Amino acid sequence: MGWPISLPGPKFGTWGTRQGGAGNLCDTEEAMSIPKRLLACLIICALTFATAPRANATAYEGHPKLVIILVLDQFRADYLERYRADFKGKGFKLLLDHGAVFPDCYYGYANTETAPGHSTIGTGAYTDGHGIGSNEWWDLARKKDSTVTSVEDERYALVGLPSGAKTTPGASTRNLLASTVGDELRLDTLGASEVYGVSLKDRAAILPAGATANGAFWIDQASGRFITSTFYMQQLPDWAQAFDDGPRIAQAMQEAQAPANTTNFYGVVGGTAAAVSYELDFAKALIIGANLGKHPTTDMLTLSISSTDILGHRVGPDADEQRQMVDAVDIDLDEFFTWLDKNVEGGLGNVWIALTADHGVAPVPANAAKLGLNAASIDLKKLVDNLNYSINQKFSPGEKIDYMLPKQSFPYLALNQPAFERAGINEQEAEQAVEGFLPAAFASLTPPDESKGPATSKLPPTSALYRVYTRQQLAQGQLPNTPFGQLIAHSYTPNGGWYVMVIPQAFQMADHETGGTDHFTPYSYDRHVPLVLYGAPFAPGTYHGRVEPVDIAATFATVLGVNQPSSSVGNILTQSLKPAAAVVYPKPVPAGHARPAHRRPASEKKQ
Ligand SMILES: [Zn+2]
Repeated sequence: MGWPISLPGPKFGTWGTRQGGAGNLCDTEEAMSIPKRLLACLIICALTFATAPRANATAYEGHPKLVIILVLDQFRADYLERYRADFKGKGFKLLLDHGAVFPDCYYGYANTETAPGHSTIGTGAYTDGHGIGSNEWWDLARKKDSTVTSVEDERYALVGLPSGAKTTPGASTRNLLASTVGDELRLDTLGASEVYGVSLKDRAAILPAGATANGAFWIDQASGRFITSTFYMQQLPDWAQAFDDGPRIAQAMQEAQAPANTTNFYGVVGGTAAAVSYELDFAKALIIGANLGKHPTTDMLTLSISSTDILGHRVGPDADEQRQMVDAVDIDLDEFFTWLDKNVEGGLGNVWIALTADHGVAPVPANAAKLGLNAASIDLKKLVDNLNYSINQKFSPGEKIDYMLPKQSFPYLALNQPAFERAGINEQEAEQAVEGFLPAAFASLTPPDESKGPATSKLPPTSALYRVYTRQQLAQGQLPNTPFGQLIAHSYTPNGGWYVMVIPQAFQMADHETGGTDHFTPYSYDRHVPLVLYGAPFAPGTYHGRVEPVDIAATFATVLGVNQPSSSVGNILTQSLKPAAAVVYPKPVPAGHARPAHRRPASEKKQ
């Protein structure tokens, strides 16, 4: 059954007015008397609504047929300029040459990790709006011996695991406090629009798509099979089962030169270019299998490419290997976009694509230090040991109580609430004590300089704290009224129990003495990501000036004609919107002439 609602003209007229339509004409008639002006306005408005083409840009009419939010995991925006000369075909160049390009897109919070990044892209909100502060955290009410991940949910089960696989909790959006733009699309079309999420990572598939998604798919890390959760469905759809049972996993392993008996697909294959095309082939199977782009209303796919992050952590942003990965992604996107052009009704003219990333990344500390930056590698275990020692001295002299929980990562350091409570210490005292001990704990990581006289060359980097805030300060907004304070305020999460938020000095991170790098800070290198909007409503060009990833959901919601996500704080990127009358979509294919949904050109079939 088709979607029954057809929106009336004035809605489009209003949008057109903002672009300089009838409203401006009325405003210029200053010399007329009020009744005459009113009459003139009425006539002009009536003529406008009678003759202006419809904006043809609403989800309710299937304009566009398909929206793809394409996330490259750990992809700093400068890559697009650094490697632009490498790009061939219609991969990145399709977006850079024919899209609205925003080179100055920076996350507006300080906790630049994967789960919050993907949540922000979907919801148009920061952590203080969507609740996801990090990839995992301590939740002692749910688990005493380890952290929980942002999406794990023991109330559900995983679906599609190979037989005999270890049972692990299912996954859901249980911690996501805000709706996504996909949720709003589903809500406003009463479920007629379909929304899916795909990634190698569970959090990157689940969080940007949202609670109402028809499905989210990610891989079982051991086998590489795409799986889902009973949160979405009881069993894999036939097309997904067929993909998993087919030759594609073996092909990816062969391309990655992985041993045939590999039991760690994610680690061995995930960080290679073979996993990019593997993931994109699953996305194609989904688009065909779920009939995305063939419904009367707009469908949406959030697609997060994980391989850039898996490799990037190992080699850093400046390695040849990462450049080769970016170039491989370019080739795979060329193939994927070409495929979309042939397989979505009306081609790419019926598709919108947003390109962005969930976070950037820091240079490998050793490389930054070589150039003279104070890029120390922080011994996090020793830092936590130092904190425990100091807290024991203050509250329980002579004892060895673990006041800090055992598994820690920046930027939120987790306090052992029960241990403090047993000692009769409340949250405020506990967090302030940790805050107070942190500068000395950092200082003790670097031995004092014993040399005599001035140094003859740059001294080695020293671990150093920049700022620390307690959970209570974040929750109560006791932060400086500055741009930096805003970044911290946006990083408040109710998850993780008692914690302090720790910001080391720029270019520093935990435990990366032997190579590799990380992202988790409020510094520009972690916050700078691509933003390109491609599709009929977006005027191609380069738009300088600060924008943020929250603007994607806000802008798409507006142009689709649906509500903003529940906690959206994004701006509408009006500078990139064409006048409504200039937005043109391909005419629908006459009945009987549509390409069969399952047909793929023989040349594109992969064995
Ligand atoms: Zn990430």
